[in-house]
This record gives sequence, structure tokens and C-alpha cells, in this order.
Amino acid sequence: MARANAAYYAGRDPLGAAGDFTTAPEITQAFGECLGLWAAVTWTLMGRPDPVILAEAGPGRGTLMADALRAITQMMPDFARAARLHLVETSPLLREAQRARLPDAIWHEDVAALPAGPAILLANEFLDALPIRQFIRRGGAWMERFVADGAFAERPAPDAPLPDAGEEGEIREVNEPARTIAAALGARLAAQGGAALFIDYGPAESGPGDSLQAIRNREAADPLGDPGAADLTAHVDFAALARAARAAGAAAHGPIPQGVFLARLGLHSRAAALAASDPGRGARHVEAAARLTAPEAMGRLFKALVLCHPGLSTPPGFEAA
Ligand code: SAH
Repeated sequence: MARANAAYYAGRDPLGAAGDFTTAPEITQAFGECLGLWAAVTWTLMGRPDPVILAEAGPGRGTLMADALRAITQMMPDFARAARLHLVETSPLLREAQRARLPDAIWHEDVAALPAGPAILLANEFLDALPIRQFIRRGGAWMERFVADGAFAERPAPDAPLPDAGEEGEIREVNEPARTIAAALGARLAAQGGAALFIDYGPAESGPGDSLQAIRNREAADPLGDPGAADLTAHVDFAALARAARAAGAAAHGPIPQGVFLARLGLHSRAAALAASDPGRGARHVEAAARLTAPEAMGRLFKALVLCHPGLSTPPGFEAA
């Protein structure tokens, strides 16, 4: 399921005002700036390794990282000098957009291809774009749901990567690439040091439900219609990712709601400062910060999760409430 997504991202730039959907870094520069300062503080907690890998998975137009680097260069130039920029991106079109803004980066197809060494990785709305498998409980066994001739069909799935239990009719989703990435990152962070920050949308606890969605022109579309023309996304199972990383030797913090995380990082003060320096458009900065943090907007469904070396102090924003 959702295999059509590689074709979707390869063929277009889906982000921004004219695109199919928008994301936090495209809503306000303050988002990337706050994440840049998060990375800078995390680097000091790591003991300021030099050089250090600064990586992003699924960087879209490169907006988040460009905003992050501007803030880092201003606030912690030592970190800016130590950082080696690595981007993980499969879409040739989006790689070009990233190259225009981040000419010094090195690109990779896969998180597993990042070079060895202490690393800080950022990823916003990356995991939700990876393909999921969907299973449905029928007669005491798991069936896999798949798409055939434009309709959902079911086939027996004795290999379902799920406990052999569940209520009749219950739907479970498994994002195998995300679990593989969490396990591999967990192992490398435990061995080589560093932290990975994932921001995405999904529930705090694993649970049943069908969350597959197609989005086109900012509206829900038919997931079965015109494969490759709409973005397919599914909720991220943060608890499963934390479990996979812990099993590989890493620590996990969160998930916590995005609104709580960004408020703790100072998003509102940054928005107020931007508003004060931008007369006439000031309200837009404050509204953007509210959109990212308000529980009824993006503040609660979106979550932040950190996977890191088990010896690292609690990363900024994840202190106990
Ligand atoms: N982080 C950006 C873009 C989110 S869209 C933002 O917040 O605006 C998802 C991004 O992940 C796109 O850049 C897409 O091309 C990339 N992507 C999707 N599948 C991928 C994969 N398997 N490996 C690497 N990048 C992928």
C-alpha cells in the first residue's frame, strides 16, 4: 500500500502555496530556526564533537535546513563550522530545489548510507510519506489489504508483522521502512553518538485504525484514484519506532505534542520578534506560530520524538512536564 508515493514525489514539488499540501517550515521560518537551535544545544550536550554530521531526511524544498543553518550561524558559529551537511532525499526534482539553497550538502538515497560518526538528524513529515502495509482481522487471522484494479482487496497474511490477536474487523497499519530506519538509527546512535528528531503526525500510543489518506490540492482525495497524482500518507506509530530504537540500544524521548515542544523551544518569542521587525505583516508571524502550536490546529496531532545515545542528557524540550 502507498507504493505509489515514490512516483508522486519524483514527479513534482508538492509543497508551498500552489502545491498539494503545506508543512511547518513552509508556514514560518521560525520553525526551522527553533529546530536549528535545538540541534545546537543538542551538539553541546554531546560534548561539541568536531566534525559532526548534521543530516536531514526528506528535506522537501530545503527550507527547514536553510532556516536552521541561518540561526545556527548566528547563535553558535562553532557548531556551524563543525557541521557537515548531509541530506537524504530520493526525489531528483526536490534534490535540485535543495541544491539551490544548500549547495554544500552531500546527498544520499537512504538514511543507512549516511557516513559514520556522531550525528544530529532532523526529519519533518518524512516518516508519514513512507509506504505502509494495512492488515484487517478476519475470522481469527490477519488478512492484508491491497489495491487491485482500483479497489481494495484482501489476501491471507500469515507473515503479518503483528501479534496474532485482535478484534474481528480491526485494522492495523505497519510502516516497515520506518521501523527499519528507527532500528538502524538506534544502533548507530548508541554506537557513535548523537540524536535524531522526528516530527510527524500520529497518536502517542499504538492502536488500531485506518489512517491512510490521499491529499491533492490541499483536500482529501480518493486513495485509489490516479496513483502517483496525490500524496499518500498515514499516521506515524511513534511508540513502535521508540520500541525499535530502544531494542537496538538507543534511548527515546517522547513523543510529545508539537505545540508543547515548540513553545518550550521559544517559538512564540521568536514569532513576536519577527512580528516586531516586520511592520505591516506582523500578525502573520503570530498567526503562523499559533497554527503550529494550537491543539485544534497542528499542535496536538503532530508529535516530536527523539532517538539518541543512551548517555545523552535529556534533549531540549523533552524535560518532564
Ligand atoms: N520535510 C519537508 C518535506 C516533507 S514531504 C517539509 O517539512 O516541508 C516528504 C519529503 O520526503 C520529500 O522531500 C520527499 O521527496 C521525501 N521522501 C519521500 N520518500 C522518501 C524516501 N523513501 N527516502 C528519502 N526521502 C523521501
